[in-house]
Amino acid sequence: MDDLIPRLAACEICAERFAATRTAHRPNPVVWFRPGARLLIASQAPGMRVHEANTPFWDQSGKRLRAWLGLDETAFYDRSRVAIVPMAFCFPGYDAKGSDLPPPPVCARTWRTPILQGLDRVRCTILIGGYAQKWHLGTKAGVTETVRDWRAHAPEVFPLPHPSWRNTAWLRKNPWFEAELLPVLRARVKEVMNDDAAR
Ligand code: SF4
Repeated sequence: MDDLIPRLAACEICAERFAATRTAHRPNPVVWFRPGARLLIASQAPGMRVHEANTPFWDQSGKRLRAWLGLDETAFYDRSRVAIVPMAFCFPGYDAKGSDLPPPPVCARTWRTPILQGLDRVRCTILIGGYAQKWHLGTKAGVTETVRDWRAHAPEVFPLPHPSWRNTAWLRKNPWFEAELLPVLRARVKEVMNDDAAR
């Protein structure tokens, strides 16, 4: 893990791919984990704001995710307890409609397994969105079906929709998510974050 973090921070595998996007940006891996973390947030990929701030979930999605988890900013960004490991560490660019492109699969292929092997104290994993859910659960099901089946994975794993504003209609259509899943998730996160035996 000691040499893996600087190698990841310097990664430029997707330089040509990003140069060909509308923003023509350089790779900027947002690296936010340390050995010893007990809560793993397996997310999708940084958006433009996160790319610029170099801090994961430094946007409206982060506000909503912290509310879902019951964590304030200090706890959420405490790398000794929380690891944030997306399916791609760099902003992938925009598609023709202005939505974020999917995470480049080469990133998870290259980095994910050694990173997760190094995070051997993780006791609870939050899977945000379809890419992380497919990779971690090996499921072919869509996000709604996977999240609806959350009891099959809890309390070690909680699949969640992406906390983006784009999913506000999804939240309205699926009130069980806030009424049933979130209270159990918050209790589990609190338990794991406060368990200093996990250090
Ligand atoms: S997305 Fe991943 S593989 Fe691509 S440049 Fe960034 S760190 Fe490297």
